Amino acid sequence: MKTHLENNCAVDIVPIEETVQTVMEEKIKLHEMEDKEEAFMLGDLGDVINKYKRWVKKLPRVEPFYAVKCNNEHAVLKVLSDLGCSFDCASKSELQMVMNLGVEPCRIIYANPCKQRSYIRYAAKHHVSLMTFDNEEELHKIKDIYYGARLVLRIRPPNDFKILCELGIKFGCHKTKVRPLLETARRLGLNVVGVSFHVGSGCLEASAFAAAIQQARQVFDIGLDLGFDMNLLDIGGGFPGQVSPPISFNEIAEVVNEALDLYFPSDDRIRIIAEPGRYMVASAFTLVANIIAKRYVARDQRGENGEPVSSLSASDEPAIMYYINDGVYGSFNCLLFDHAHDHVTAYIPREPENELTYECSLWGPTCDGIDCINEKTQLPELKVGDWLYFLDMGAYTTVAASAFNGMTQPVRYYFCSADVWLEIYPKEKREETKKIKQRPLHLTSGRIFQETAVTHEKIPDVSSTSKD
Ligand code: PLP
Repeated sequence: MKTHLENNCAVDIVPIEETVQTVMEEKIKLHEMEDKEEAFMLGDLGDVINKYKRWVKKLPRVEPFYAVKCNNEHAVLKVLSDLGCSFDCASKSELQMVMNLGVEPCRIIYANPCKQRSYIRYAAKHHVSLMTFDNEEELHKIKDIYYGARLVLRIRPPNDFKILCELGIKFGCHKTKVRPLLETARRLGLNVVGVSFHVGSGCLEASAFAAAIQQARQVFDIGLDLGFDMNLLDIGGGFPGQVSPPISFNEIAEVVNEALDLYFPSDDRIRIIAEPGRYMVASAFTLVANIIAKRYVARDQRGENGEPVSSLSASDEPAIMYYINDGVYGSFNCLLFDHAHDHVTAYIPREPENELTYECSLWGPTCDGIDCINEKTQLPELKVGDWLYFLDMGAYTTVAASAFNGMTQPVRYYFCSADVWLEIYPKEKREETKKIKQRPLHLTSGRIFQETAVTHEKIPDVSSTSKD
């Protein structure tokens, strides 16, 4: 069965026994029947929905504001918006994207501490009043353009923790500068309402959150001391999103809950929000790419300076260079910008004919030598026209892809397991229960379904349902 989110975005609603693997194999068959070799990105919207539900369950005090920069595909934004999720936007076009979905301004934080003046004007015009700052110049801009904004001071959290992408080098007010900056805000008559931080994207130590929350408390107290009505804490992003992350979301959630109860107990009635990006989408997307070319090279050419490498040259086996139709200038820009080296793994959808594997390297389709996806891995011998797939490709991938060398982005396909979909979209549930084999529905978390009960009223655009 196929359904459409608005914008003509098709979603395959599949029986519960279907997996990414089976849906992918189906799509490969279709591509081959049509003689299509284009790479495609397979988005499992059920995975996004389940992530959101898990968030609500494990972090009941923390409202998620999804960081649009991470993956701004309409299907992702629409599903999250229908679930009642709020949004973190970094620019005018992200604000537009989210508001075009009908998201109310009160469900948006403009979380970029250094904003273009015209973008602040746009936020003011559309009443997106919650925004971050971390420097004095920003305060003067905001005073001129949007005096009534509700300001959140972004601080630089302690940085002695393992993090994939350090953000403190660019943003965040150092703790020694907090008081003078807040005094300036006071002098300008601005309305500071809270504190935010980002421990860094891809946090590898849960204690980074505890330390940052503790520091936020100290900043909160300075704000209160200066007479601000401090009522909001924003704990940023940094939560893991892969299928098998090096640190689990549950572990981080436990530490966060404990630190919140200690430093921001619930009877203080402080609103707690977060800006998760990769958590919501990383594992939901699988990239499937086609081998478009192949070359054998002698393994003894692969020494560091071209010299023979003795242990390798003892073998007669060649090494193989595979060229596929997505690369570092496309979805794999995450290798450069998101430090993703250790996280991308290649698999072969088909059963290999035998168990033998060969040393090989994977290359993107452009003419640039930097376009190398994996310098050294092991794969069975594959043919031009075979497919490789890569898990965890939902975060910071296509959103930053270029068209360098005239290469196109992967085609997008979305699917969702029927049981998950029908829980969220009851209108379709009524119409389609008879058509889809499904297990009984169990509405789990109280909060999520209270929220969706409200939003369901305004989902008429989950429109035409047709049987393929
Ligand atoms: N919020 C801000 C201000 C960011 O800069 C980022 C990422 O760079 C995020 C949230 C999302 O972070 P993550 O994807 O690690 O959750």
